[in-house]
Amino acid sequence: MGESLASFGVAIGSFTSNAISKALVVPAIFWVWEHRLGTIPLDTPWGIILLFLGTEFFYYWHHRASHRIRWFWLSHSVHHSGEYFNLSVAYRLGWFSSLTGAFVLFLPLNWLGFHPLAVGATLGLNLLYQFWIHTELVPSLGWGEWVLNTPKHHRLHHAANPEYIDRNYGGVLIIFDRLFGTLATERPHVPVRYGLTRPVGSYNPLRIAAHEWLLLCNDARHLPQWGDRLKLLWMPPEWSLRLKTTGITTDTAPARVKP
Ligand SMILES: [Zn+2]
Ligand SMILES: [Zn+2]
Repeated sequence: MGESLASFGVAIGSFTSNAISKALVVPAIFWVWEHRLGTIPLDTPWGIILLFLGTEFFYYWHHRASHRIRWFWLSHSVHHSGEYFNLSVAYRLGWFSSLTGAFVLFLPLNWLGFHPLAVGATLGLNLLYQFWIHTELVPSLGWGEWVLNTPKHHRLHHAANPEYIDRNYGGVLIIFDRLFGTLATERPHVPVRYGLTRPVGSYNPLRIAAHEWLLLCNDARHLPQWGDRLKLLWMPPEWSLRLKTTGITTDTAPARVKP
């Protein structure tokens, strides 16, 4: 109950801050649209299919970057902060997603010729679809698991276990995870542990929204070099911890996840 109320509080903050920051984002999107390569007509089935596949493709990379680039993770980590997995998690979204600039990863769609409103509507449907996959109550969807992002896939996306973390980034489709090698499947002897590797430990929406920012400041304080402090912004979230415990950088460190 506390978790669900916290998610609701986070959702109100996210809606408000994102509505305000859209004022900065929308002009940038329309500037790119004005300088586009061409126009892809959307009055044919092929146009719609291309729009859907294109949006799914860029959503995959946007989501992957939101996990692996610390600056983008500042906002997206809020969605992963719940330690239970239920529908309320679906609207536990970051407060500064527009301000971190991660939206630029969708701009190629507008540059290639998809109208900003069409891309916005497709992304809206993508997020709407993702509401129902935040549940433990739906079993396997059989052959649907090959193509669609399902509760079974998305459960693992919310796991903090090293066996599952940073996998299953798809929106409506799971095919890009299969294609780019980021698909995880549940292991019989590894029960899913939900949440963040460094948990929030609070139901206060403000504390939840600020959590990763506080961790970033704390990590920066423990790095003596300014170069490394700057590096924190684009390196993966666990980079500073690995630096602290091993003293070696990502250039020589072993990979985080063994698939
Ligand atoms: Zn995610
Ligand atoms: Zn989710």
